[in-house]
Amino acid sequence: MKATVMYAAGDVQIQDVPDAAITEPTDAVVRVTRACICGSDLWPYASMERSESGQSMGHEAIGVVEDVGSDVATIKRGDVVVMPFAFSDGTCAFCHEGLPTACVHVGFFGNNGTNGAQAEALRVPFADGTLYPLPVGEDDALMPSLLTLSDVMGTGHHAAVVAKVGSGMRAAVVGDGAVGLCGVIAAKRLGAEQIIVMGRHADRTALAREFGATDVVAERGEEAVERVRELTGGEGVHSVLECVGLDASMETAASIARPGGAVGRVGVPQHTEIPGSLPAFFGNITIGGGPAPVRAYFDELLPDVMEGRIDPGRVFDSTIGLDGVPDGYRAMTEREAIKVMVRP
Ligand SMILES: [Zn+2]
Repeated sequence: MKATVMYAAGDVQIQDVPDAAITEPTDAVVRVTRACICGSDLWPYASMERSESGQSMGHEAIGVVEDVGSDVATIKRGDVVVMPFAFSDGTCAFCHEGLPTACVHVGFFGNNGTNGAQAEALRVPFADGTLYPLPVGEDDALMPSLLTLSDVMGTGHHAAVVAKVGSGMRAAVVGDGAVGLCGVIAAKRLGAEQIIVMGRHADRTALAREFGATDVVAERGEEAVERVRELTGGEGVHSVLECVGLDASMETAASIARPGGAVGRVGVPQHTEIPGSLPAFFGNITIGGGPAPVRAYFDELLPDVMEGRIDPGRVFDSTIGLDGVPDGYRAMTEREAIKVMVRP
């Protein structure tokens, strides 16, 4: 079968690899009908050292179950399923507590012996705990929005939950990529009255406004902090959704939070320390977040997608086949596309 392999920064290839197959009795094999390229895939695309074996890519997908192992009880052949970016057993203490990304059996697609989702098919470990059957056919019109449940919509929602967004509150979203845009949807959905999106790409901030952002701040650094203060009566915002992961964005996030406020971090940190320690300490600001437990959010978010209350699939502004994936990486890196959908 065909799959996406990254060999070095800027070197993404479509390769013939061994077919996905059941290796454990708890596995399923899924034929991928929709996948996508993630903002987090762009970090290795910018910096990966050359590897002879390469890195299998992709961690977001919807597909049709083709085969299941002998211990799989709830997932059946023919089910249309969405997968979260991490697999989990669904039975351990952390899964029961709603944190499947800390599952004792957690693994991330494309690693731990699994192939990535930018491929014709995928082996899914712990199918019962990982996969979520969808009540639609494989070509349903809602596919783009359903696909965002795999990562970006659940991740934006996680940022809003950790940042304690609530009714009537002020929120700011740092970053105007697909996760930031979904963060705007999430903040509005949880009742924020003012939503400031911080980004400088006109097409993205325009979409943010359609999703419910009330203000756009294109400035960076100290100027951005000043601008947010002006927009919030000098106080800052109750909730900050940090959707980038760079030192500068984290410093800004901690500096625009209102005393007593909270920052939800979901941008994969490109550093080992948390910047903004001083403003966070003196403002009594809670800083939390991490890999979003998107599997635990399907039950809450799916009805809003199915009933049209949210439309996060609008973050996809380009659709390609598997052979177009290398160019899709280039287009997202050069900000020609917000998020690229793949139809293998
Ligand atoms: Zn678990």
